[in-house]
Amino acid sequence: MDYKKMDCDVLVIGAGGAGMRAALAASEMGAKVIMVSKSLLGKAHTVMAEGGIAAALGNVDPDDNWQVHFADIIEEGVYLSNWRMAEILAKEAPDRVYELESYGALFDRTPDGRILQRAFGGHSKRRLCHVGDKTGLEMLRTLEDQILHRDVTALDEIYITKLVKKDNAVVGAIGIEMHTGEFILFRAKATILATGGCGRVYKVTSNSWESTGDGIGLAYNAGAILQDMEMIQFHPTGMVYPPGVRGLLVTEGVRGEGGILYNSKGERFMLRYSPEKKELDARDVVARANYNEIIEGRGTPHGGVYLDISYKGAAFIKQKLPGMYQQFLDFAGVDITKEKMEVAPTVHYQMGGVRVDPDTTATNVPGLFAAGEVACGLHGANRLGGNSLADILVFGKRSGEAAAKYASDKKIAEIEDSEVQEEINRVLSYLKPGGVNPYLLVDELTETMSNKVGIVRNGPDLESALQKILELKEEYKKVSVPGGRKYNHGLFTALELGNMLIAAEAIVRSAIMRTESRGAHTRKDYPKKDRNWLKNIILWKEGDTMKMDTVPVPEMPEELKKLVKPEVYQ
Ligand code: FAD
Repeated sequence: MDYKKMDCDVLVIGAGGAGMRAALAASEMGAKVIMVSKSLLGKAHTVMAEGGIAAALGNVDPDDNWQVHFADIIEEGVYLSNWRMAEILAKEAPDRVYELESYGALFDRTPDGRILQRAFGGHSKRRLCHVGDKTGLEMLRTLEDQILHRDVTALDEIYITKLVKKDNAVVGAIGIEMHTGEFILFRAKATILATGGCGRVYKVTSNSWESTGDGIGLAYNAGAILQDMEMIQFHPTGMVYPPGVRGLLVTEGVRGEGGILYNSKGERFMLRYSPEKKELDARDVVARANYNEIIEGRGTPHGGVYLDISYKGAAFIKQKLPGMYQQFLDFAGVDITKEKMEVAPTVHYQMGGVRVDPDTTATNVPGLFAAGEVACGLHGANRLGGNSLADILVFGKRSGEAAAKYASDKKIAEIEDSEVQEEINRVLSYLKPGGVNPYLLVDELTETMSNKVGIVRNGPDLESALQKILELKEEYKKVSVPGGRKYNHGLFTALELGNMLIAAEAIVRSAIMRTESRGAHTRKDYPKKDRNWLKNIILWKEGDTMKMDTVPVPEMPEELKKLVKPEVYQ
């Protein structure tokens, strides 16, 4: 079958904040860049980010600085973070924010005209630079504006199905143009994965339809190492009704601006769980508190807890949280300037992902880089709100620069036609009537993950989830869909499902292995933190087997150790 060929120095897969920032950086280094995404340009998952970007500017709390931000990341990540990534992020986030401003981002302002910063869970200072509750939209709008004025080829609605390797290095990728069904071979000297997370492996999630873990699957199949996959963040506050919007995010900005959590008895329960930090403790703490209140029978009629900001008054709410005001009015018929919201935990973020070098974002596979939510290391066992938007700017830039540098002395590789035909045949093999319906398997997988690999886990449930996933993997071999190649949603669901199964298997295997409770990973049968588990779990592909092992968390230099509280063991 015929296919198009496109060559570049750097191929960026994904056009969220990480992909766009990487593409800009690589282009500024003089590289010829192609950036592809499976959604429309400007519509990537990043667009949904609400609360803000964490950067220690010290505009509101003058005693904030990179050292305090660094300590917050390490402590709230419960000592699983890669110290070097945390150091880089804390030091470079302010520059990336000012740079975004210089690109035209219109941040909210302090009375004297500086970038305003709000409080957020787990941050010990007011640190979140924001644009109302639409920070992600402003970030993407601004980056897209830059992309369109630079020499970057941005192609949307391209679904990448495989990374291509030669002599053990990634030398490009194969994709399908969704609206024509045409295949494209991208030959690239370096490739950056910026494909976002895998929240869609759960039924109740705040994530966009794109977050199906494609990057996890692509990297894993290309021989890259995954890490910390058991660390799935449950955001404490997602909408609970109507059913169609269950899981949709209620930004932490609501609590940052003073929102208070109550149970059905009218008790401000966070005073019990976290007397000092209350509603603004780290996400894992608040999410577990909400979960406990609900399962112990103190929940709301729709199975949530109450979140109230109405006491702040309509003018304040409409100015600070216009998106939330509209979201509740439109979807639930609730006026949050007068009434309480009902909220419950929702799957929000993958702390784990592709293991990368902290300075360059290079993976263990030459020619392959990873940045943003698909990569891991920075957030350890718990990501602080706002640190992802900082992450995608800081490490997106570094990734683009390192990939361009890597590409500078490489040649475009020759790729055998037979290899491309093999991949085309694999993709087209899903197009036939009579097979197993991929939507049904997606349903079974997401139900299993939400019911058995949730916020509080236990051995028997995890084992049964793994068994189910292995059965679904067998069923997946029989999947097919009717119809042709053009805009066939069923075909893309079939392709995504393969990646979702890899991500889910990695999450569950790692969750079984970590026999302790730390950060986002809570085991009912191992309720305590264990000093022997100051390790990262890694996974990789060997033949058809998912192999796994542990590696010690890299030890930080003495001068950085002095910045953080020593690990406290229970
Ligand atoms: P994404 O923005 O997810 O982009 C992934 C890109 O990869 C997309 O363009 C997609 O089309 C493309 N892609 C995926 N698979 C393929 C494939 N197979 N082929 C081709 N392209 C592909 N974080 C904060 O720091 N602050 C916040 O206030 C905040 N608010 C949030 C609110 C919500 C509702 C949600 C869901 C998340 C929020 N987050 C926030 C988290 C943050 O938005 C994300 O972690 C971050 O935007 C991820 O960016 P990314 O560039 O890594 O990936």
